[in-house]
Amino acid sequence: MRFGAVAGRLRCGATEAVELFTAESALDADGSVTETRSRLGPKRVSARDRNPTPMECDRCGDDAIHHAAYSGAHLCGDHLRRSVEKRVKRRVREDTLLDPEATPDDPDRWVIGLSGGKDSVALTQILDDVFGKDPRVEMLALTIHEGIEGYRDESLDACVELAENLSLRHEVVSYEEEFDVQMDDVVESDPENMAACAYCGVFRRDLLETYAAEFDADKLLTGHNLDDEAQTAMMNFLEGDVRQVAKHFDASLGPFDEREGTDEFVPRAKPLRDVPEKEIALYCHVRDLPTHMAECPHSSEAYRGEIQSTIHELEENHPGARHSIMAGYEELSALAAETYREGGDAADDSPDLGECERCGSKTSRDVCRKCRLLDSIEAA
Ligand code: SF4
Ligand SMILES: [Zn+2]
Ligand SMILES: [Zn+2]
Repeated sequence: MRFGAVAGRLRCGATEAVELFTAESALDADGSVTETRSRLGPKRVSARDRNPTPMECDRCGDDAIHHAAYSGAHLCGDHLRRSVEKRVKRRVREDTLLDPEATPDDPDRWVIGLSGGKDSVALTQILDDVFGKDPRVEMLALTIHEGIEGYRDESLDACVELAENLSLRHEVVSYEEEFDVQMDDVVESDPENMAACAYCGVFRRDLLETYAAEFDADKLLTGHNLDDEAQTAMMNFLEGDVRQVAKHFDASLGPFDEREGTDEFVPRAKPLRDVPEKEIALYCHVRDLPTHMAECPHSSEAYRGEIQSTIHELEENHPGARHSIMAGYEELSALAAETYREGGDAADDSPDLGECERCGSKTSRDVCRKCRLLDSIEAA
């Protein structure tokens, strides 16, 4: 396997549920979630909260650049930055991201999915600030290039600039180099009559797993933010698939010291998942980080878009709704994971995974989904 010279969006296409408004997150003035408690429903937002007048930072009196309606906090750039970093560091601690047994001789190896978008750039920067000089951690930024003209090339520039600024090992891999396909061509031929993201997600997952294994990674870290995760939680809940909710805990949600490990996939973590998308965008702006903000032209997750609009409206009218969704979902997923593991009525009956006879990827069939998709693309 080679680390080539090209890049990718690593955070789209996720499918990963929740009792809405049965628990509410209690928030620090900086927007940090400190505890959850039962309540009948989130507060309604007042007209003043919706249309706040220019305000001063609660901490220092400078001009505020952000008003977090869910906590009531007004923050200047510097205090917004500190608040975001504080929440990410706390999440890292609570998730026991750093293996307590890691040593300079046997470091924890992390692959960071770096797409050049604001979330992955903020994640990479913060992890480098905290762990860049820690000999117990080895980090590699991985960028995937899907072959989407006018989109990925620009974001690759942001990835390269950031990695150079941080002197961080950076590897770039492309669908073209690995699979001899470009997403622009796949969208054109569309042999399976599917949305672009359905192809792209399969290819991306395959590359992430392959390269994480190549790097002998212990963890795969992605830049999913609070909005992303609340959408995924809502989608899983609406899907009614509790087994999927349980899997979410072990795959990417639970603290590492509470998960049940598997040799089949590299475990994932999302250290930004307590921070709203808007605050991450402001964070990148305040720190003047190199980012590429454009949307993928093939983005086609219509259902996720619907959920996004619904949650946006909920948050507007009931600030704190996203935190409530995630607080309830995390608790639910831990309970579901426990139930499925204990092998009660809901014992895991998912099929055993073997190796694809073509490429060796994990699959429950003779030939994996990626190889079957590549066959049909080639035949088109
Ligand atoms: S096609 Fe879909 S999954 Fe692929 S980069 Fe674009 S939005 Fe992301
Ligand atoms: Zn301030
Ligand atoms: Zn295969």
